Amino acid sequence: MAKEKSAIFIIFGGSGDLAHRKLYPSLFRLYKSGFLKDHFAVIGTARRPWSDDYFRETVVTSLKDYFDDSEEVMTEFAKHFFYQSHDVNDSEHYIALKNLASKLDDQFEAGHNRVYYMAIAPRFFGTVAEHINSEGLKASGYNRLVIEKPFGRDLDSACELNGNISKAFPENDIYRIDHYLGKEMIQDIPNIRKNNPKLEQALNNKYVSNIQITLAESLGVEDRGGYYETAGVLRDMVQNHIMQIIGAVASDEPESEDADVIHKNKTELFSSLKELSPEEVDQAFVRGQYDTDNLGDLKAYRQEDNVAEDSNIETFVAGKIEFDTDRWRNVPFYVRSGKRMPKKSSRIDIVLNDQVKELGIRPNSVVTLLIERENGHSILINGVNYKEAGQDFIKFPEEAEFDKAREAYESLIIDILSGNRVHFTLWDELRSTWKYIDTIRQRWDSQTPEFPNYLSGSMGPDASEMLLERDGNSWVWDD
Ligand code: NAD
Repeated sequence: MAKEKSAIFIIFGGSGDLAHRKLYPSLFRLYKSGFLKDHFAVIGTARRPWSDDYFRETVVTSLKDYFDDSEEVMTEFAKHFFYQSHDVNDSEHYIALKNLASKLDDQFEAGHNRVYYMAIAPRFFGTVAEHINSEGLKASGYNRLVIEKPFGRDLDSACELNGNISKAFPENDIYRIDHYLGKEMIQDIPNIRKNNPKLEQALNNKYVSNIQITLAESLGVEDRGGYYETAGVLRDMVQNHIMQIIGAVASDEPESEDADVIHKNKTELFSSLKELSPEEVDQAFVRGQYDTDNLGDLKAYRQEDNVAEDSNIETFVAGKIEFDTDRWRNVPFYVRSGKRMPKKSSRIDIVLNDQVKELGIRPNSVVTLLIERENGHSILINGVNYKEAGQDFIKFPEEAEFDKAREAYESLIIDILSGNRVHFTLWDELRSTWKYIDTIRQRWDSQTPEFPNYLSGSMGPDASEMLLERDGNSWVWDD
């Protein structure tokens, strides 16, 4: 049985989509597995005046979408939930919140630990963090602040946000969520590298031709057009998720499992991102926006709800990222993410060169790490399951173990409750990645693209293929 944790969660935005779709189901899983049992309570806050009973009903209703446990178990779990209506700018409300948290702390013997979770619009993050501090909400145990994405929309706004939250919380108590870091495969990469010395030996510019990261979605923006108009895929996927995936594959192996050591290596990698001049952006990055499909059945991006008819927001990006380190100099990291691609796929393709024969690996082998297990597979060598590939340089825990995969948010909440910061992003990492992304964004904002430029259901604009062809390479994942 898991070791029980104790804490009071204060969820800002407790009536929202993220809370109901991700957080409450994850807390319920932790409840069922015993991580959360008797000594926890959840305070949901939002503007609406809800009663505790109504809030609990909404929690149980959303759980029913994901679980077939008895209503009795869900209702028992929901007894740990309390509601406090709250406006982020009203100091009085923070006092009410503080009193409720301390009452529940006594009632549930929650160890004076607090998790403050920002499931709320980013423009409120700073205000809420400052009020938590100024209105004395912090308790005598730990006080951990959890921040959802997006963390800023460029380097300046990220700096401003960070300035605000770091006035109220030390960096060690800030848990910035990048939910890709909660995914089983991304968390397994250090183990895969450690347990497969030949692969680790090959991970450098002597043996790697290029590394490709693809986060493809088949859906369009659905009902999130309004949000997407303020973001675009470069900000939404590359600055955070894709960079963090590169961090997992390409950072130096840490000498220990200590979070500080792991982050030091990742920070060093990001600080060596090879800067692009504005002209180099045109060569290294391609943007796209989806049109209808070839039958004309699907909406083009510009026809989606809450999207401007002349929107120049990109729904597709492909790019070539390089690092100025001895280990990775001259190895292109080709990255790609887009909506309305032929199917959903999240994968890392490590393309080895012919020198790897020195290591006993078949020349030009491709090792693919599938971030979401596809058709029962998790690691491929040259397109087939690694176990059947006829090369034994990769070992991995049995597939059955993988089957028990935790949902990303569940895993991240365990880390937050355990004080484990390995799978969260640090400010120094974000600063470097934003700086890099800003150069691309600024160049793009200074030019008018010819959008739409790819059909829904296609692999993106042709320029994405040409980006690799120019280097004599090609995308491994090609539907
Ligand atoms: P949402 O609009 O569904 O919920 C927002 C919540 O904030 C609601 O509970 C609302 O009542 C509350 N709120 C709004 N104004 C308020 C105010 N003035 N004072 C107090 N409370 C107020 O949004 P969401 O989709 O749940 O997203 C929440 C956060 O999580 C955002 O930062 C978003 O970027 C991030 N996020 C969401 C998802 C997702 O899947 N929904 C994924 C990743 C990140």
